Amino acid sequence: MNNIKRVGVIGGGQLAWMMAGAAKALGVELVIQTPHATDPAVAFAAFTIFAPVDDSAATAELATRCDAIAFENEFINLVALMPLQEQGVLFRPRLEALAPLLDKYDQRCYLRDLGLPVPKFVALEEWGSGGVGERGSGGEYPISFPAVLKVRRHGYDGQGTFIIKDREALEATLQGLGHTPVLLEEFIPFERELAVIAARSSAGEMALYPVVETQQEEQVCRRVLVPAELDPAVTGQIEAIAHTLLNSLQAVGVFGIELFLTPTGKVLVNEIAPRTHNSGHFTLDASYTSQFEQHLRAVCDLPLGNPALKCDAAVMVNLLGYEYSHNDYLAKRQQLAQLPNSHVHWYGKSESRPGRKLGHVTVLLDGATKSEAQAVAQTLESIWYGSRSVR
Ligand code: ADP
Repeated sequence: MNNIKRVGVIGGGQLAWMMAGAAKALGVELVIQTPHATDPAVAFAAFTIFAPVDDSAATAELATRCDAIAFENEFINLVALMPLQEQGVLFRPRLEALAPLLDKYDQRCYLRDLGLPVPKFVALEEWGSGGVGERGSGGEYPISFPAVLKVRRHGYDGQGTFIIKDREALEATLQGLGHTPVLLEEFIPFERELAVIAARSSAGEMALYPVVETQQEEQVCRRVLVPAELDPAVTGQIEAIAHTLLNSLQAVGVFGIELFLTPTGKVLVNEIAPRTHNSGHFTLDASYTSQFEQHLRAVCDLPLGNPALKCDAAVMVNLLGYEYSHNDYLAKRQQLAQLPNSHVHWYGKSESRPGRKLGHVTVLLDGATKSEAQAVAQTLESIWYGSRSVR
């Protein structure tokens, strides 16, 4: 008999909004901590505490209104939350599982120390009078160009990730960032980007969704092809990575794992999201158990659901803003919904901005090849964007 009936969620964006549908089906109430009344999940929450997600006093209040606290983003103040956990507040996952992941440099170190494959990386000294150099060294870069510079915290959707072609570009970018802590890593000329959603229960049970191919443009996810066409050995490697990682973290809940596949068939971990993830949105329509339901099942100590696909294949396309507007794009949404087997999800954001995730569409496919899936994505995108570009 589980006693977790009210779940607090830190964050009220589209991930919390999509969790709300699953919560209703499971008979679980959501209480949300989010700053704005217009945030997508607010209208569906039993109660909302209007506060920034890193406001730990607000989280203390949240804790009085729920049985366990989950996260929809990682822009939290972990140190300030620790006393709450010590007083008995149940965070799922536990704060210890989040601690190595919130900072991209710490995350890379954690993965490397676990023996998982990651790109070569180094933390850089902040920009200062002495110039730029590897921490503790005389200023030589251990990473050759092109390289990738990443802001260590608070990056998302490619904000804070810069592809750097040479030393001058590096120094200019660092100067623009001021004193923000960064890491530099090797540029991986990947053949494809992949992702997997993995869930773990408090009893250590695991459920893995099919590995998918994600396609990014300007560092932002544009579309996801499900499942990825892969050599079984590669799939096996990815599943082993997911097991090692979630067991080592003693994770509870759903985690998104982003990966690079190199032209020689090597798998490298790019990034871990300790929560539901954009690469798993297809599960709402294409899987027996959505990632949102799965997350709540793990958080509430319910048995994990079946992560298998209920169709042969699927394609998910993000609907990104391409202008500043208050338009609700109803005509376009209706056009997208008319395509066979399409499922349109509209997050109800009151304002559109270039690059902002406004919704997504998933089309279920009958044994389609990759080129057919790609053609469906192109049809969806030409309805949504026309000839416009996102940024
Ligand atoms: P965010 O946290 O903002 O999503 P990521 O670190 O996942 O940032 O990077 C976003 C995208 O940038 C990746 O999906 C990939 O396309 C590109 N990218 C990131 N790191 C590298 C790398 N080391 N080599 C090549 N491309 C990279």
